[in-house]
Amino acid sequence: MSAPKRFFVGKIEREVVLSGDEFRHAHTVLRLKEGDELTLLDGCGAEYSAIVSKVEKGRMLLHVLEQKTSDREPKTQVILLCGALKGDKTELIVQKAVELGAARIGVFSSKYSSAFWNENKTERLNRVAREASKQCLRALAPPVEYFPTLEEALKSADGAQNKLFACEFLEKSETELSSRSGSFALVVGSEGGFSEEEFSLAKAHGFSGVSLGKRILRAETAAIALLSVVMYECGELR
Ligand code: SAH
Repeated sequence: MSAPKRFFVGKIEREVVLSGDEFRHAHTVLRLKEGDELTLLDGCGAEYSAIVSKVEKGRMLLHVLEQKTSDREPKTQVILLCGALKGDKTELIVQKAVELGAARIGVFSSKYSSAFWNENKTERLNRVAREASKQCLRALAPPVEYFPTLEEALKSADGAQNKLFACEFLEKSETELSSRSGSFALVVGSEGGFSEEEFSLAKAHGFSGVSLGKRILRAETAAIALLSVVMYECGELR
């Protein structure tokens, strides 16, 4: 498959200017020229077909043709909250979570997570989310947000109807994953795992503990596995 010609732009009007990173991608990587067709995304779910009307130094002028409706966004809203991981493993989670259909991703620091965090990392993860979103033809770029504490991450999911906390020291899930409807919030820990107090805090915020089986999975495997199972149960992976 050739690379999808999809670009995120802020506001979409009849004429749109592509500049910055999106221009470089269109011009240098995809070598788009006058007359070529592409798809514009407003990042909030709307998709438009457009045509390149002019290529100038550092920018491309586009003429918008029509709005298209995307049927690729999941019907189920799933928020994934995961512990900050060392190296670039959080990027892997973000990329896979976007492909699997997460609506929003939160990364948090917790008692046993030792990953260093700064603004650049959050920015980088948002770029990864945008790229993954284009690649899998989604119309929305799920935002990635950083929470300095687990509690702030848990609170950000207050409105979710199903709250699941992947707990590595639980013998058995406290709840069934099947036959559920409504929105979800999923919490997965970092390499260091969770403490008993963190599990209690999550329960106080309405989360139920779930086990992912008898083996201890790596954090990135656990996040991808739990999201996949929930998406499957909601009919999104069929
Ligand atoms: N260092 C911990 C393991 C952490 S695994 C230890 O040695 O016990 C990282 C995260 O993945 C966990 O916090 C949990 O959210 C999830 N996880 C991994 N295996 C799991 C399992 N079998 N059941 C539920 N959650 C699991």
